Amino acid sequence: MLLSRDQAHYLFGVMRLGVGDSLALFNGSDGEWRAQVAAAGRRDGLLKAQERTRPQQDPPDLWLLFAPIKKARTDFVVEKAAEMGAARILPVQTAFTNSERIRRDRLQAHAIEAAEQCGGTFVPEVAELRKLDAVLADWPAGRQLIFCDETTVGARQTLRDAPSAQGWAILIGPEGGFSATERDRLLALPFVSRISLGPRILRADTAAVAAMTLWQSLLGDW
Ligand code: SAM
Repeated sequence: MLLSRDQAHYLFGVMRLGVGDSLALFNGSDGEWRAQVAAAGRRDGLLKAQERTRPQQDPPDLWLLFAPIKKARTDFVVEKAAEMGAARILPVQTAFTNSERIRRDRLQAHAIEAAEQCGGTFVPEVAELRKLDAVLADWPAGRQLIFCDETTVGARQTLRDAPSAQGWAILIGPEGGFSATERDRLLALPFVSRISLGPRILRADTAAVAAMTLWQSLLGDW
């Protein structure tokens, strides 16, 4: 594997690895490999994969849709979603979204770092920010969307009663919540079930972690 400038800087400048040193390598789809440094430069380098040490382990087919909030909290949501086993992370722009743009590359780097930290072999894709309406308009057939709505009650039974799905997604709103129009639109869609996360209003970042915990424990791979 040829290294980019940033990777070479990290491995040889920060971690002080040199030719002949071993390290664990994963690319998100082929499991974990033991690799050896074959060439080490200031701006590039070469790693040779030697043997597979762990098979690829993909998460369940769960997407997280969330409206970006403040920078540090958005970073937190992406990091926790990757740790908790989201297969894809989709920032969506809603009527009351606090943030108009995101740095997708930076968020993707957070997802990679989170996968490294938790010993994963899978990295969820962080999608470009899109309008919620547009995402709902090309919603994939068979995927169920769990709309987290603080104005409703009940969760466990709703999830258990949801029709069988070819994939799932969780939707978390921004600090200001969803507009009445968005709520009406969501509730009219056949692939949407809404759930409560308890009687307290949670911050959006807390709600994302709580919803993923609930889904993982009832329908996921926990
Ligand atoms: N609309 C609210 C307000 O301004 O009073 C608060 C929105 S809350 C901070 C952000 C998002 O977290 C909500 O849109 C919802 O998706 C989710 N959320 C927070 N608490 C929740 C709860 N108890 N049940 C379900 N979802 C919740």
